[in-house]
Amino acid sequence: MHFELSHEQRMLIDTARQFVEQELYPHEAEVERTGQLTPDLIQRIQQRAIETGLFAANMPEALGGGGLSAFDMTLLDRELGRANFALQYLVSRPSNILQACVGEQRERYLLPCIRGEKTDCLAMTEPDAGSDLRGMRANAKRDGDSYILNGTKHFISHADLADFAIVFVSTGTLPPKRDGEPPRQAISAFIVDKGTPGFSVKPGYESVSHRGYHNCVLQFDDCRIPASQMLGEEGQGFAVANDWLGPTRLQVAACCLGRAQRAFALAVDWAAQRKQFGQVIGRFQGVGFKLADMRTRLEAAELLTLQAAWKTDHGSATDSDYAMAKVYTTEMLAFVADEAIQIHGGMGLMNDLPLERIWRDARVERIWEGTSEIQRHIISRDLLRAHG
Ligand SMILES: Cc1cc2nc3c(=O)[nH]c(=O)nc-3n(C[C@H](O)[C@H](O)[C@H](O)COP(=O)(O)OP(=O)(O)OC[C@H]3O[C@@H](n4cnc5c(N)ncnc54)[C@H](O)[C@@H]3O)c2cc1C
Repeated sequence: MHFELSHEQRMLIDTARQFVEQELYPHEAEVERTGQLTPDLIQRIQQRAIETGLFAANMPEALGGGGLSAFDMTLLDRELGRANFALQYLVSRPSNILQACVGEQRERYLLPCIRGEKTDCLAMTEPDAGSDLRGMRANAKRDGDSYILNGTKHFISHADLADFAIVFVSTGTLPPKRDGEPPRQAISAFIVDKGTPGFSVKPGYESVSHRGYHNCVLQFDDCRIPASQMLGEEGQGFAVANDWLGPTRLQVAACCLGRAQRAFALAVDWAAQRKQFGQVIGRFQGVGFKLADMRTRLEAAELLTLQAAWKTDHGSATDSDYAMAKVYTTEMLAFVADEAIQIHGGMGLMNDLPLERIWRDARVERIWEGTSEIQRHIISRDLLRAHG
């Protein structure tokens, strides 16, 4: 395993950094202030991303995507992650899970998403089922060659912008894994178009993190959809999610690296320039040691993330690899953002600098895509499983 970058990888990083600085940074302050993306801005950024070759970089080349490896996607996401998330999201999509589309689904959903003509959102979480997704209540009942969907999803990101949702619901029960345990929900995934009768999207909650990146409530009331809208096999929704969504935790980790690098660079500059008591504050051990700890954790997080990406490309990545990269990097970002603010003193809290934003945005990273506790559960489960 070695992480020396090729010429092409360096060019990818340069292109992405230039894109972030020229196309995304100029709009950050406005998005932070209004909490909104205008349709013109969405179209402009997406168009520029398509022209630059950064859009749908995760999708296979044969389908019109960029065909980047997991390692190269990690390098790209690290650069995109520097910017406000609502803006960067316009570049870093569509969702990997769309590669599970088959037959007509590919023409209707996968290919238009790769071309930037349609947008997806992914709905698993419910008011009473977050970490414990098997406890979900939303359900689909077979009726001839259709399914009837009922239930509520919440916290669903960018459903306001999406043309369709990939929705996970219960389609029955599975026998218990062990004697004495209750039966488990069989989960299936469906693609549901906006505008389908019985499917509505409502505004969700205001979040402290990621202004401009909205979450919504999805409501299904006797929503009839053809059986052909199922993604994967009946009862295999989690298998489909596991096959395609592992790298999503890698993406979270990579974006956190970018944000931490941005905060860290500002902290070093400030420590080297700001004078108190007749000297630059970086000369005080209390400040210099903070920088040392920030740098050390940042490098460790980077190695863990690149290792998980490398293993993905070599077919050896485990759930624990993704969990370790996610839990360590998201907690590293929280630490680095907080220390960067501390080093800046009062200026760190002012919205002239991106630090207070990075600090706020860091908070959600330890919760979505599986909380830190769930990541630790995965790591410890894999350790103990080896001992029966
Ligand atoms: C801004 C935002 C956007 C989101 N976007 C999406 C989206 O697009 N699609 C989607 O489906 N979901 C989305 N989510 C949901 C997100 O994935 C969940 O919030 C997350 O999985 C946690 O679920 P919960 O909030 O219900 O917390 P809970 O599961 O209720 O957890 C509460 C606390 O209990 C702890 N806990 C729970 N179980 C255990 C356990 N077994 N061991 C130890 N501790 C445990 C948790 O770690 C946490 O600290 C989003 C969430 C946010 C905040």
